[in-house]
Amino acid sequence: MIILLETALSIKQYLRNWQKHDVDIKCPLCNKLTRRHTTYERQVISKYETHTIFILSRRCKPCNITISLLPSFLKPWQRFANHFREIAGRWHLTGRSLNRITASLSESGISRRTLQRWKQKFHKQLKEKLIQQRRNIIDDSAVADSILVHYRKNLTAGDELKGKTRGRFCCLT
Ligand SMILES: [Zn+2]
Repeated sequence: MIILLETALSIKQYLRNWQKHDVDIKCPLCNKLTRRHTTYERQVISKYETHTIFILSRRCKPCNITISLLPSFLKPWQRFANHFREIAGRWHLTGRSLNRITASLSESGISRRTLQRWKQKFHKQLKEKLIQQRRNIIDDSAVADSILVHYRKNLTAGDELKGKTRGRFCCLT
């Protein structure tokens, strides 16, 4: 099981003070205090370097589970830091090609294939968010009317996903 440390930390701050997070926490399943278990090493890749960090883990004996305390700059089971993924995503949104992003981040050792996978996941999430937005605005007729105007002018959902609506739907976030 993984618990994200709520404290916002940079990698360098975490490296300096990671031991201070070794505190008593309650088990999310049974609410009893967990015990110190082990630490293990993990690699975190940022834009220019790869860091080795220590992850604290706790043990809940009654539940027979181990809990890893993951710093908030990492997603579970990912080796690239969140801000690194954010940089790649923002560059993609500004129209940079995957080849160019791969080249710009070459010091990290990221492959074009990984970036392609992130891109596909990102667009899937974007599509799901768009669908959810549509569901949320059904009850807001004023907002719905402002969107329908564009659809009456032959705009399609596919066009919208391709970014052909940029600047039109300023009311949506
Ligand atoms: Zn427990």
